[in-house]
Amino acid sequence: MKFETLCLHADNNQKDEWGTLTTPICQSATFVHKGVNTPSDYSYSRLSNPTRRHLEQLVASLEGGADAYAFSSGMTAITVSMMLLKPGDHVIATDDLYGGALRLFRNVNADNGVEFDFADTSDTEAVKAKIKPNTRLIYIETPSNPLMKVTDIKAMAEIAHVCNALLFVDNTFLTPYFQKPLLLGADLVIHSGTKYLGGHNDALAGFVVAGTREIAEKVLFISKTIGGQLAPFDSFLIERGIKTLPIRMDRINENALKIAEFLKTLPAIKKVYYVGLPESKGYDIISKQAKGFGGMISIEVDSKERAGKILGRVKVFQYAESLGGVDSLITYPMLQTHADVPEEERNRRGINDRFLRISVGIENVDDLIDDLDRAINGEE
Ligand SMILES: *Cc1c(COP(=O)(O)O)cnc(C)c1O
Repeated sequence: MKFETLCLHADNNQKDEWGTLTTPICQSATFVHKGVNTPSDYSYSRLSNPTRRHLEQLVASLEGGADAYAFSSGMTAITVSMMLLKPGDHVIATDDLYGGALRLFRNVNADNGVEFDFADTSDTEAVKAKIKPNTRLIYIETPSNPLMKVTDIKAMAEIAHVCNALLFVDNTFLTPYFQKPLLLGADLVIHSGTKYLGGHNDALAGFVVAGTREIAEKVLFISKTIGGQLAPFDSFLIERGIKTLPIRMDRINENALKIAEFLKTLPAIKKVYYVGLPESKGYDIISKQAKGFGGMISIEVDSKERAGKILGRVKVFQYAESLGGVDSLITYPMLQTHADVPEEERNRRGINDRFLRISVGIENVDDLIDDLDRAINGEE
């Protein structure tokens, strides 16, 4: 089956006894045993739950993974994945990471003995230069957040595997509709399902998709031990979101390209970061490894005052954190997503008081462009 069909019919041959078309919400913490020596499929919802399991199998099939596990947030998924490491292991991670991941690595995992080096992973040589004898993981986001740098997934997989390390890819920004890291050599994929997979800004969720059975078994062991699984109702919401993932992503991609082209024409916009612009660095790589560019655009405006004015004036775009939903959002990374990154480092990377991040939604693109035009250029 093709991807769009899989989003709806991945499970057609395993209907339950009622033949429910829509996966029911199985709101039960525990399950009755059939008999002393007759195991049931389910025993306790921390281990597995029918609604969640259904969603997990769907996500595994969309990413081409051996199995997937659903968690209560993207951060839980990242936390569980990082538990595959031991104290003394060395990790090379993208320097331009989601702020929460950066905080977890620096303030929690590092304190527990995992060693980190951060690199511009869009530069393959910079990654090679950081390899140590104890390197066990390369952790990347591509495109990165919020600078939209593109990392070559295949090249990273090769580097990792030569030194007996794993490659984890946070695939939140592009989703498996546009990019399938496991098929390019990654060992594990992470999602914040809160974003495009769910797609409606109404539930938090996270996924770990394992490339092999061996990794899947390890993830399941950690997960059933520590908890943090996705609840049945939220599993239902995310599964419902996935049914429309392809058409949402197509519209978002189309809107984002038009908005990026429009922003480029404005004198008040000093820089547009969008991986779908042919002149952007990494365009050749993303064109090779992904089928689309997604809906994330960052911009640098000409003054701090202008940034504030835009955030106060938008009417269709909403000034809110998060991304990946049907509604278009605009955020100020300096104050929100990247507030915990030290100021000096943030400024060095360009995430300054003139830097804004846009998540393009599925509205009519003319309304989105008019809204930005008015917010950016309108008179007082
Ligand atoms: C939002 C996000 C996360 C964290 O996910 P939550 O669901 O908010 O916990 C991780 N990675 C990326 C790229 C994100 O955008």
